[in-house]
Amino acid sequence: MSDTNSAQQTKSVGIIGGGQLAQMLAQSVKHLNIQCTVLDPNPNCCATNTRGNCQQITANYDDQKALIKLAQSSTVVTYEFENVPGQGATLIEKHGSIHPSPKALSISQDRLSERAMFADLNIPTPPYAPVENLDQLRAALSTIGTPAILKSRTLGYDGKGQVLINDPSKAPQAWDTLGHVPAILDGFIEFTRELSIIATRSTQGHIEYYPLSENIHRGGILRLSKAPATNIDDNLANQAKTAAKNILEHFNYVGTLAVEFFQIQSDQGPLLLANEIAPRVHNTGHWTIEGAKTSQFENHMRAVLGMELGSPEPIGYSAMINLIGDEPRPGSMDAMPKAHIHLYGKEPRPGRKIGHITLNAPTQNELNALLERFTRIIG
Ligand code: AMP
Repeated sequence: MSDTNSAQQTKSVGIIGGGQLAQMLAQSVKHLNIQCTVLDPNPNCCATNTRGNCQQITANYDDQKALIKLAQSSTVVTYEFENVPGQGATLIEKHGSIHPSPKALSISQDRLSERAMFADLNIPTPPYAPVENLDQLRAALSTIGTPAILKSRTLGYDGKGQVLINDPSKAPQAWDTLGHVPAILDGFIEFTRELSIIATRSTQGHIEYYPLSENIHRGGILRLSKAPATNIDDNLANQAKTAAKNILEHFNYVGTLAVEFFQIQSDQGPLLLANEIAPRVHNTGHWTIEGAKTSQFENHMRAVLGMELGSPEPIGYSAMINLIGDEPRPGSMDAMPKAHIHLYGKEPRPGRKIGHITLNAPTQNELNALLERFTRIIG
């Protein structure tokens, strides 16, 4: 094969953002000889630790020249986080190709538009009301009641930009704490558990669904995901799949998407309330690297490149534990030879996700035993 032919056939993916998600996206397609270029302002971003198939354009996310360069030098551009400036995505679309659709990105950047989209698609959500000022907050508290959670409409993630309100008289303090920004007030849901679904849609409109994950958050940050979640009957699985399908088709979406739910007990049985979407690979799908035939990362890359999707079928049972703030003590994991440790190469800092560990076992009982052992060793 001539050099020109092989150059034409080398596929390359541009990724806006060079964090751990970009790192895992690049790693997932190294064996397919796919090259990646991340755009990130931090010259030490962790994605470029991925030796071999990842280079970097060091520039701000709104740097027009850099965005055009990324679009023109990549087969397709994707993104690893939601807060990509909207104009950036539109600019890429003009000069190249971008997946998932910038429309999904802009809707997911605003909690109010996201909730309106759920309503349009008949997907149940917690009760909520828009809040633009203190008077509206007081009115919303009188209809929704307490406890309730005041959430900023934009730039909120991992529980940031949220204030719990236990008493309507605390409305002024809550409004001050949030910083007087446009918000929604969410009724506090006494959920049975939190679940999420990860699904990938190809350019041909074919959808692969991963089994549901059960997720445990503390302080608004994901700590643990277990998959496949137990006690999922067809009714519950179909609620999640239908919601994901409707959202994917609504946006003519290409790539991997996550939908996060609260499971509640209703008069009609277990019901899923959608809380939010992530138009990208998601932390509650990290278990798929070792726990599924094809990971969420590889399927995302396959989708955006127009390739056939791989099987999402689970391999045994998995538990993914986030490493938050610090790495395990040196030597502490020696007694856990079956643990898959992923360190992202980030400087430890309180509250920062610096890695994750996946435990995988052929049966649920064996997984539970591994988890117990892990908790005894690591705490
Ligand atoms: P979010 O940023 O909306 O994903 O919220 C982060 C976490 O806060 C969720 O995963 C839940 O654990 C909790 N949370 C958010 N909204 C609600 C709600 N309306 N009711 C109860 N818990 C919530």
